[in-house]
Amino acid sequence: RGECEALVYRRHGDPAQVIQLERLALPELGVSDVHVKMLAAPVNPSDINMVQGTYAILPELPAVGGNEGVGQVLEVGSQVTSLRAGDWVIPQDAGLGTWRTEAVLSEGTLAAVPSGVPLLCAASLSVNPCTAFRMLSDFESLQPGDCVIQNAANSGVGQAVIQIAATRGIHTINIVRDRPDLHKLTERLKSLGADHVITEDTLRKPEMKELFKKVPRPRLALNCVGGKSATELLRHLQKGGTMVTYGGMSKQPVAVPVSALIFKDVKLRGFWVTQWKRDHAHDREKVQAMISALCQLFLQGKLSAPASTEVPFRDYQTAVQDSMKPFVSAKQILVM
Ligand code: NDP
Repeated sequence: RGECEALVYRRHGDPAQVIQLERLALPELGVSDVHVKMLAAPVNPSDINMVQGTYAILPELPAVGGNEGVGQVLEVGSQVTSLRAGDWVIPQDAGLGTWRTEAVLSEGTLAAVPSGVPLLCAASLSVNPCTAFRMLSDFESLQPGDCVIQNAANSGVGQAVIQIAATRGIHTINIVRDRPDLHKLTERLKSLGADHVITEDTLRKPEMKELFKKVPRPRLALNCVGGKSATELLRHLQKGGTMVTYGGMSKQPVAVPVSALIFKDVKLRGFWVTQWKRDHAHDREKVQAMISALCQLFLQGKLSAPASTEVPFRDYQTAVQDSMKPFVSAKQILVM
């Protein structure tokens, strides 16, 4: 043990400018600590917002970037009971700083991943699939045959929503932005189980009426874009349905048509997986049940990692910059 390499930021600002590779000393291994070698860690939009200084929770500076990832246990302290050398682990909470080659962390901050779960699935398990799982479970009681509509359907969360919904017999209407290779993207999302893939422009057109002759109107809308896109989701929602906002990629506020509130009594809710995990930190059974259910889906091949590009840790500049480009359709995952 001794030192590790880490992607550190000492001030907030443009991630391309403020993140740098530094050598950090590793603390001594305490009796309840676990020495972990990081294997892979994604670059998520919230990681970027944290570096920029615009996210709801910000670390003390200097900080190591990254909030999720998977590592392998190298050594455990004498009082550690739940983990042993060789296990794969993921963080239980945000803020651990996962963009690093090694870490010494306390046992309670880590959860074990069952063996056999593929690397990129484990690396991206704690944020996006958990978010998709909770939003499909906690807001409307959805039955097979029910329908969910979502925007940014090609996002990491969106892909997990498509796959988890498909395992429950729930139909998905998936909204994406138009692009030159739309056909390829549509085919990819359909291969994951998407029932309908529709562009933002088509969503505003009268032909949507034709679709709703064939499928029921959605009871649940999942919004991570905001602006006009969210307004359109609301227009198509069933009477009494719920729109859950969990992101704001367009940086535009959600505009709610008055008619949706008066005549359809729609419910507007929000979701933040970090808060959910904190609220359930003492309900390990519920958290474990979710992780196990998601890992089962990984092992059965019913849930895959998001479309991703593996980037060597030292090429972090490329990963960070590509993660901020539009229409990339691939999660950047740092591989240590
Ligand atoms: P990804 O990096 O996998 O995907 C980003 C998505 O955003 C892509 O679908 C991209 O579409 C779309 N997008 C980017 N810019 C815009 C824009 N200006 N207008 C419309 N769409 C845009 O993201 P994640 O799945 O990791 O996260 C998606 C969102 O969900 C983020 O806002 C993130 O912060 C949020 N999130 C929230 C959580 C919570 O607990 N509240 C948990 C997890 C994620 P395109 O291909 O067209 O560029």
